[in-house]
Amino acid sequence: MNTEKTTDTSEHLNFLEEIVEADLASGKYKSILTRFPPEPNGYLHIGHASSICLNFDLGLKFGGATNLRFDDTNPVTEDTEYVDSIIADVRWLGFDPAQILYTSDYFPQLYEWAKVLIGKGKAYVDFSSAEEIAAMKGTPTEPGKESPYRNTPPEENLALFEKMKSGEFPDGHCVLRAKIDMASPNMIMRDPLLYRIKHAHHHRTGDTWSIYPMYDWAHGQSDSIEHITHSICTLEFAPHRELYDWCIEQLGIFPSRQYEFARRNLSYAVTSKRKLKLLVEEGHVSGWDDPRMPTISGYRRRGYTPESIREFCRRIGIGKRENVADMSVLEFCIREDLNKRALRRFAVLRPLKVVITNYPEGQEEWLPTENNPEDPDAGVRNLPFSRELYIEQDDFMENPPPKYFRLSPGGMVRLKSAFIIQCDEVIKDDSGNIAELHCRYIPESRSGQDTSGLKVKGVIHWLSAAHSKTAEVRLYDRLFQLEDPTEEKDVVKALNPHSLETIPEARIEPALADIEPGRHFQFTRLGYFCVDPDSKSEKPVFNRTVTLKDTWAKEMKHG
Ligand code: ATP
Ligand code: MG
Repeated sequence: MNTEKTTDTSEHLNFLEEIVEADLASGKYKSILTRFPPEPNGYLHIGHASSICLNFDLGLKFGGATNLRFDDTNPVTEDTEYVDSIIADVRWLGFDPAQILYTSDYFPQLYEWAKVLIGKGKAYVDFSSAEEIAAMKGTPTEPGKESPYRNTPPEENLALFEKMKSGEFPDGHCVLRAKIDMASPNMIMRDPLLYRIKHAHHHRTGDTWSIYPMYDWAHGQSDSIEHITHSICTLEFAPHRELYDWCIEQLGIFPSRQYEFARRNLSYAVTSKRKLKLLVEEGHVSGWDDPRMPTISGYRRRGYTPESIREFCRRIGIGKRENVADMSVLEFCIREDLNKRALRRFAVLRPLKVVITNYPEGQEEWLPTENNPEDPDAGVRNLPFSRELYIEQDDFMENPPPKYFRLSPGGMVRLKSAFIIQCDEVIKDDSGNIAELHCRYIPESRSGQDTSGLKVKGVIHWLSAAHSKTAEVRLYDRLFQLEDPTEEKDVVKALNPHSLETIPEARIEPALADIEPGRHFQFTRLGYFCVDPDSKSEKPVFNRTVTLKDTWAKEMKHG
């Protein structure tokens, strides 16, 4: 045991940390081992992130370790694509599994243990149909009925189970059940199913098996094989704990212990692989890594950092009651993180041309501006200023309301890190749309050297037209318009039809051209953006990670 790590009690411990700490203090375990056990039937989502952080952080905090184990007992829904994505996502989150393991590697051992159980008269092959078995189950207040196959002698059951394994029966012909107690108040203990027949190709074991273990037979024994000390699962498995313990006790193997915590859900998102898969398969999103998806790969592509997701999981914490975390907490975490490290850049999403009539044609000058006011080490860069500029269309209003501090006819505004300009003339096209503005600049108002004495309230960003480049910018909004999308039976009905707006021809400053995917920036006044993998040097593509909220106001104060 690494005592240095366990003696740090300055921090508030969650209930599982308290259990682990007590188990180490009492000497019950010398060291702990946890596991994260995803079923490889989809990509990981933000709910899984919570479980990953919980399990790996326990390992790290208490000097133990954590396995990544694929719970691959259902050949029909599983795939190596999912295995690969899950490994990549766990690593990207910043965690290093002690071992990467597969329940399917334990199939021979689980089969042998099933025979041990049968030999002890504690399991039997049942030929009743699924409906009959369900009908014999009873209700929580009424005991169930014993199956007519319940008292088949062990030798006969062993032979039948052998036949199940060797593929002599068709799918669903019979099952292996534990023989426990049809009158148990815990319905799970009423002779639960341990094995079912499935003639299906498995992504790792191929066609070796025609029987596959149920969760209840596979999970605890897999934990035991690995000597997992604390097996943490979500609340719905609490009634299974009795069976988990029963199986381990019958076999006399390493006593792993199950603990439950409540699922973590997120508002305006769904945390169910099945539902997310439907969105992918029906083409409502571009893939599992669509930046609107609440998957780890979606967040990564959108521009979330591992640090921000870990911080989110830490903030929402863990508990014993179901909890829906607010999307704004996640957004807060990414803003906090990127505010510290994202370089500031200028981009104009919907350009409006501004001609500076008193600036000589063909002339240019380069004006210094900070790369990140939050980080003095980030330095400065020079922005080109010239006679033709772009500003955002919505930074100009022909008929502004009172207290509009941006540009309007006759009005003045400061161009950030440059000069104050005044709008003299609005030029319109034949259909009456604003085509360009003619403005004058005040040469004495240069930022940092302003002797003009003018007081101007508004500060806007801008670009030199000739120096700027084109980029595609993708603006994302919430994927769902319902706070709880599961209110709709069909989650597709809860989708937000305006969750993606693509701006094919935004303008960016020259320093943003040719940047590798994954890099983060703050576009001044617009939000945090990240270079998408679709980006090409001739056509950069940026994803909006999150808007700025009020942070820009602070940085704009100094022009
Ligand atoms: P899904 O319904 O999305 O398939 P699952 O629980 O069936 O979820 P698994 O692959 O079996 O998915 O989950 C792996 C681990 O992640 C399990 O230990 C599970 O308890 C945990 N987990 C899954 N969803 C959440 C969630 N929303 N909050 C916390 N933990 C979760
Ligand atoms: Mg599942």
